[in-house]
Amino acid sequence: MYFNETHIAFRDSIKRFIDKEINPHMDEWEETVAPLHDLFKKMGDLGFLGVRYDPKYGGQGLDYWFETVLLEEIGHIHGMGVATAIAVQTNMATPAIAAFGSEYLKETYLMGAIAGDMVAAIAVTEPDAGSDVFAIKTRAVKEGDHYVLNGSKTYITNGTQADFLTLLARTSDDKGYHSFGLFVVPTDLRGFHVNKKLDKLGLRSSDTAELFFDNVKVPAKNLIGDEREGFIYQMQQFQHERFAILPGTHVAIRDMVDMTVDYLRQRVVFGKPLITKQVLRHRLADYLMKNECLKQLTYHIVRMKMEGLDVTREISMGKLYAGQLISEVASGCLQMFGGIGFMTETLISRYFRDARIMSIGAGADEVMSEIIARVEGF
Ligand SMILES: Cc1cc2nc3c(=O)[nH]c(=O)nc-3n(C[C@H](O)[C@H](O)[C@H](O)COP(=O)(O)OP(=O)(O)OC[C@H]3O[C@@H](n4cnc5c(N)ncnc54)[C@H](O)[C@@H]3O)c2cc1C
Repeated sequence: MYFNETHIAFRDSIKRFIDKEINPHMDEWEETVAPLHDLFKKMGDLGFLGVRYDPKYGGQGLDYWFETVLLEEIGHIHGMGVATAIAVQTNMATPAIAAFGSEYLKETYLMGAIAGDMVAAIAVTEPDAGSDVFAIKTRAVKEGDHYVLNGSKTYITNGTQADFLTLLARTSDDKGYHSFGLFVVPTDLRGFHVNKKLDKLGLRSSDTAELFFDNVKVPAKNLIGDEREGFIYQMQQFQHERFAILPGTHVAIRDMVDMTVDYLRQRVVFGKPLITKQVLRHRLADYLMKNECLKQLTYHIVRMKMEGLDVTREISMGKLYAGQLISEVASGCLQMFGGIGFMTETLISRYFRDARIMSIGAGADEVMSEIIARVEGF
């Protein structure tokens, strides 16, 4: 109904790639972290990293429905860490370069990211500023033909492997939002340090890092757009980031329900397969009902984006609902697996750990509620 034969062929090609090049390695990558240069090069060669971007820069020049297909398919990856790493590359660190960057930035970094020759990261959060982006302290001071960057960033996905960061820094002490710049910061510059790779509850196949900048000289040509408009660019980029979570979430939820049904069919308790228990079947039906709402909201947002409408309200609602629902379903499905669900060897335990981030990263639930309330005018 939403997808034609071309979408289906595209979907099949991504599915084949995930089945062959990603899922067989997921257990290993949960221990070691996915090797992004190798993985992204393969994805870049197949055109998976620049679905919506201009063919002039190596993109496919396709629309939001094709992007949705990609984002849905990566929801089938057996662990949300790799899906997150991919979404950072396609929807979190590059949209602002494509929208506001100079030809130089597009030809160097956007093309590099689309081709899979460069790994990208988005660097906004700091030790003292997460939900409150306005409170960031990292400072970029213009000196001749470069900016001197000092400060730190934390929880940066792809941070130990990135070739460049799309980074938000304060450029003036003026009050208000027009005092930030968004920069493309290559990670081979002197004074850039990866402080440490962070150990975390879930998304273990993805690397998350604390970064430090000590008088890093960033060429002035690496500024995206206007040096006072970075905050505005980042707020717009956040919409691509938050949307990117939705398609993969409704797909992962469906996968969790399917794997739970399979388990309940074969697990015999009190002389009968567990699937015969009405209370469990109804709970699963309830999950599917809610997931259909999430899926339809996702498609509604795609339709709105295709019309060029402002989707801030709907994306905030979708992100809020996706985070709450995936944790509810992961926890409820794990419960139905019983003891085996608590074992690392069972995939549902990975989904349970990975799901938790969805209500925190890319704007916590409370931040989404705040945006919705503000758009609604209360
Ligand atoms: C695995 C992982 C990957 C990440 N990747 C990246 C990345 O690649 N790049 C990047 O820049 N950042 C990244 N982040 C950071 C992430 O976006 C922040 O953690 C998130 O925005 C929350 O910020 P914080 O951790 O500072 O929490 P805080 O801002 O300290 O908030 C703590 C809690 O307070 C509550 N809260 C916050 N604001 C309000 C409010 N207005 N009203 C009521 N309650 C509120 C929420 O429950 C929130 O979870 C990542 C984080 C994690 C854990």
